[in-house]
Amino acid sequence: MDTDVLIVGAGPTGMTLANELLLAGVSTVLVDRLPQRSDLSRAGGVQSRTLEALDQRDLLEPLLATGDHPATTGHFAGIPLPLQPERHRLPWRAVPQVVIEGFFEQHLAEHGLHARRNHELVGLAQDDDGVTATFADGAALRGRHLVAADGAHSTVRSLVRAEFPGQPGTLTIVSADVRLGGVDPLTSHTWNEDGHWAALFPLGTDPQGRPLRRLVLGGPDRSRPREDPVTEDEVRRGLNAVFGTRVRLLELRYARRITNASRQAAQYRHGRVFLAGDAAHVHLPLGAQGMNTGMQDAFNLGWKLGAAVHGWAPEDLLDTYHAERHPAGAAVLRNVRAQSLLMDWAGSRDPDVLAAREIFTDMARIPDVQHHLADLMSGMAVRYPMPGADTHPLVGRPAPDLDLGTARTHELLRSGRGVLLDPADTFAEAVGPWSDRVDRVGQGSDTEPMLVRPDGYVCWAGADDPEPALARWFGEPR
Ligand SMILES: Cc1cc2nc3c(=O)[nH]c(=O)nc-3n(C[C@H](O)[C@H](O)[C@H](O)COP(=O)(O)OP(=O)(O)OC[C@H]3O[C@@H](n4cnc5c(N)ncnc54)[C@H](O)[C@@H]3O)c2cc1C
Repeated sequence: MDTDVLIVGAGPTGMTLANELLLAGVSTVLVDRLPQRSDLSRAGGVQSRTLEALDQRDLLEPLLATGDHPATTGHFAGIPLPLQPERHRLPWRAVPQVVIEGFFEQHLAEHGLHARRNHELVGLAQDDDGVTATFADGAALRGRHLVAADGAHSTVRSLVRAEFPGQPGTLTIVSADVRLGGVDPLTSHTWNEDGHWAALFPLGTDPQGRPLRRLVLGGPDRSRPREDPVTEDEVRRGLNAVFGTRVRLLELRYARRITNASRQAAQYRHGRVFLAGDAAHVHLPLGAQGMNTGMQDAFNLGWKLGAAVHGWAPEDLLDTYHAERHPAGAAVLRNVRAQSLLMDWAGSRDPDVLAAREIFTDMARIPDVQHHLADLMSGMAVRYPMPGADTHPLVGRPAPDLDLGTARTHELLRSGRGVLLDPADTFAEAVGPWSDRVDRVGQGSDTEPMLVRPDGYVCWAGADDPEPALARWFGEPR
């Protein structure tokens, strides 16, 4: 074996996973076909659940210190969702994907992990012990496990012949990073009568501190090929058609066409090969869900691969990656499809769709509806199917973000190990045989007992015996 885990693709998914494996003490090789990191502007922000997960790894503060990354409102179908500090301590932050990638690249390098660039995977063979990957230059690498984090057009996905069902792209629209004049008050979604359409989202500031925005433009012609370059004139005409001369294009920093393809791999696990991030799911970019979902795939998979490599993983632990992350991905695809219909991305101007949007916009003023949508878009609504999830409200959910007096819940997870919160000091003996994998936090934690996995999800709570859950998630006792 050259390595325990070979990660193909050094995007946000691959780099997040590399960091999780570093924490798990597993040897990792990260390869990418590009000679250097992409500087394309893509996802525009980090959701609450990803911020929490970064906090659990002590990476949040240094990430936010890289620049001005304001807390910002999320949206559903372009309808702004107010900040909900009472629900989410860490609201959505405008941290662009390029910043995330640069941050992880530097962090991994500081820990001795450098992506091997100019490594394009072209072949793959797996057997009972491992996976052999071959590269365009004829080199080969062998790992116990291989993770496909190689993006929407994943080569690994094709090589393992993974089914990738869903809808092909049927239209293209323009996505551009711009500086605009005359947009206050900000119109988030608006129409004019000839089928022109625009949505605007905040995107932080440029180095001079001037606000940048992501502009999404749909014109009457949505059949142009994705590869067609977008011109400044086209963007200016689109803006004019929607806003008139009120809104001016001051700078076009970047523009491209995107499609509404929507697909998800039928199986995330193929023997020793795992699909993650865009390699496992693609959809319209709405709410930075692609990047955040990929990073959450990585948080879910990392500790499980670590357990398998260290030899304590229960037999089906690696299967729970698909069991947990496939429904989470399917839920994202579902909400994106609903949003694209409500935003009428197809430009149908169908009065039924417009009526549905109007009613929906009214409903989105109801606080309970806002809570529901904010949980959906922030990644906080994810609940993993697992034993106990039907009997205890905490099980399967992200651990509550509690101030325990000496630390917050999430700080306890910085070691990458499991944590048993044991406020009444009841379970010291029970957890003893797992003490090499699970830390126990006794007196002082003012909460009900719960067992939290290394990825921050509660896998047991209440007063029953925690031993079955310890064995279920952390393997045989020592
Ligand atoms: C053009 C574009 C625009 C986007 N815009 C937005 C947006 O506005 N908002 C939003 O939320 N999301 C957007 N997305 C989606 C978002 O960027 C992705 O969800 C996110 O990048 C997924 O991360 P990933 O790490 O899974 O894959 P990627 O970021 O795609 O990374 C995959 C990596 O794998 C490498 N790779 C590919 N094939 C091989 C191979 N055979 N061998 C070795 N390496 C390989 C690639 O070079 C790349 O570095 C956009 C995506 C694209 C492509």
